[in-house]
Amino acid sequence: MPLRVNVRLLKTQGTRFVGELAPEEATGEFHDELVRLAGPVRYDVEVERQADELRLQGRLEFLLECGCSRCLKLFPMEVRVEDLAALVPLSGDEAPALDGDIADLTPFLREDTLLALPTNPLCSPDCRGLAAQASSRDSRLPERPGSEQVPKGSPWGALDQLKL
Ligand SMILES: [Zn+2]
Repeated sequence: MPLRVNVRLLKTQGTRFVGELAPEEATGEFHDELVRLAGPVRYDVEVERQADELRLQGRLEFLLECGCSRCLKLFPMEVRVEDLAALVPLSGDEAPALDGDIADLTPFLREDTLLALPTNPLCSPDCRGLAAQASSRDSRLPERPGSEQVPKGSPWGALDQLKL
């Protein structure tokens, strides 16, 4: 469900909204081959009404299914945004469209959701990727005579050679 608030009823001391955005509501037109939402985006936000703006503060939580950008393995990733904060002007170009007194704040949650998505997801911080897997397969092949150097594609081997 989109996050809709009644602007007229909001008070300066803040009103808490807890709910879930379906994946398509939470990420809109966003499409990435390596990152997709595996479930809804759960939000827990407090909305304060100031003179001519709303202040949003709270948390987001969601589960992603990612493809590792190095080895393409699929893996789940849990994302928590603990410091969601947004200012929503109630007039001007940035103001949300009002339906009577109701403002749809979903786009402001979407912004923070998209910011929290990984740009180059890795299955583990030291994933060595497809190239490393390929070269370890290669190293099992019979070696050609006179090629007993460091296996190709190993950055550590190259470093060791540099130190000599
Ligand atoms: Zn990987």
